[in-house]
Amino acid sequence: MDNLIIESVLELSSTYNVAIIGAGIVGASIARVLSQYENLNISLIEKEADVGWGVSKANTALIHGGYDDDPQKYPLRAKFCAKGNELWRKWVEELDIPNKWEGALIIATEERDIHELKDLLRRGKINGVPGMRLIYEKSELERLEPNITDDVIAALYVPTVGQMAPYEAVIALVENAVANGVKLHLLTKVIGVIQENGTIKGVKTNKGNIKTDIVINATGLYADEISAMVGVSNFKITPRRGEYYIFRREAGPKVKKVLFPAPKPHTKGVVVNTTVEDRLLIGPNAQDLPIDMKEATETTFEGLNFVWENAKKLVKKLPPKNLIIRTFSGLRPEPTGGDFIIAKYDNINYFINVAGMRSPGLTAAPSVAYYVVELLKQYGIPLKKKKKWNPIRKGIKKFYTASFQEREQLIKANPLYGKIVCKCDLVTEAEIIEAIRRGATTIDGIKFRTGAFMGECQGNFCLVKIARILARELNIPIWKVTFKGPGTEIGVGDATQYILKKEGHEK
Ligand SMILES: Cc1cc2nc3c(=O)[nH]c(=O)nc-3n(C[C@H](O)[C@H](O)[C@H](O)COP(=O)(O)OP(=O)(O)OC[C@H]3O[C@@H](n4cnc5c(N)ncnc54)[C@H](O)[C@@H]3O)c2cc1C
Repeated sequence: MDNLIIESVLELSSTYNVAIIGAGIVGASIARVLSQYENLNISLIEKEADVGWGVSKANTALIHGGYDDDPQKYPLRAKFCAKGNELWRKWVEELDIPNKWEGALIIATEERDIHELKDLLRRGKINGVPGMRLIYEKSELERLEPNITDDVIAALYVPTVGQMAPYEAVIALVENAVANGVKLHLLTKVIGVIQENGTIKGVKTNKGNIKTDIVINATGLYADEISAMVGVSNFKITPRRGEYYIFRREAGPKVKKVLFPAPKPHTKGVVVNTTVEDRLLIGPNAQDLPIDMKEATETTFEGLNFVWENAKKLVKKLPPKNLIIRTFSGLRPEPTGGDFIIAKYDNINYFINVAGMRSPGLTAAPSVAYYVVELLKQYGIPLKKKKKWNPIRKGIKKFYTASFQEREQLIKANPLYGKIVCKCDLVTEAEIIEAIRRGATTIDGIKFRTGAFMGECQGNFCLVKIARILARELNIPIWKVTFKGPGTEIGVGDATQYILKKEGHEK
């Protein structure tokens, strides 16, 4: 141990190479926070063609209050959630991430639920959640939430619960980190960690080795596999699936607050809420899957049925099923023991796990990132703040949310704002080109940056138009445009060449 400290002290003036593996909300938050230090040379390594396509893409998108994690059982979840909620208030402003803060009601429909709500209130106070209160007055509950079920007998009101667009959050964090010097490596899969005498030296990837002094493992569902590469295999990550329905924008009645049921042992229960894109969302269920099903994001009849039946219990009325746009699911990275695993280890120097980031990982990510700084300091790494670090990032200006006056100005400044590509969400060619300029190379990259493809038609109208723009801007044939990177091309190739080849006429 003494040797380690001496080694670190000897390197006081040097620059450290840091490799963060995984560009989800957690890795991206760490990248942003670490980009404040001038003596860290940071790589953010992601196996997919874009950032935020893992667990961070498909979830309930809530900035939780922090009242339900038991500090005895799950100390890290309890410690980081309420603090993360507080930090997001500042971060969404600095990073221009769509957000809203309407609060939540946790609903009791039977006497025994009230006991649960009192427990949540007590825990919330311990965890430092401000402003919570139990409400028994039906008239007050109906004023707060006109669509609340008639069966409600009490509810816990948590005014600090918020919502955001989680994929936009990851994109914003990475854009900001990159603007502050972080190097992003996409389509780069870590397949090994290089170490000498228990000290990190680099990572092996499908594209070659990357030299690094410090590895931070933020790989979501795969964090157990990366950790095992350095001999830390005392935990497993198993997928816990959650399924959802999302409705068309005109489908109502919507809800003003986020509605939860009184909680069950391993889930917060099916939630009803209106997203920041103004669509009603219901879900998720919680289905534990075997460890080898880390990509099983299909939806199931049973799962969706469970979601529907439970959502019905929270509201007076759900919209008719023909107004559903789509169903989807996400996989929680459920760790052995149930708590986040954020740690450094004695047997491997300069390796930090940020693993098991199940819910409330989206909420906790900013406070977890600051905790990683503390862990680096415990290694004796002297962190020097940059004189010029830019906390601000501006999102793509959306035509859909602009006022009529703003729209006129946008079109005057750039006539491509007058060319609508996505009819459902009024996404213009100007926004798509800007998304490409910022790094989108795929249909999904455009979708998560602009909202095109997410509306009622689910891309039926705009797929070809977007593909044409991508092909033109990236200077590739249209069939080479992909949905999600290599192997998901939208076409098979030049049709004439294809037929000639099939018929044996190709030169
Ligand atoms: C159904 C559901 C509902 C949820 N609801 C909420 C909620 O409302 N509020 C909340 O706070 N939290 C919620 N969560 C939890 C939250 O979504 C997660 O805690 C968070 O997204 C985890 O982020 P991450 O960065 O750890 O993982 P990820 O987003 O999965 O990021 C990990 C990244 O690592 C990459 N990667 C993996 N292996 C490698 C490799 N070998 N080399 C390079 N890259 C690699 C992946 O491609 C991925 O991009 C929910 C989760 C689910 C599934």
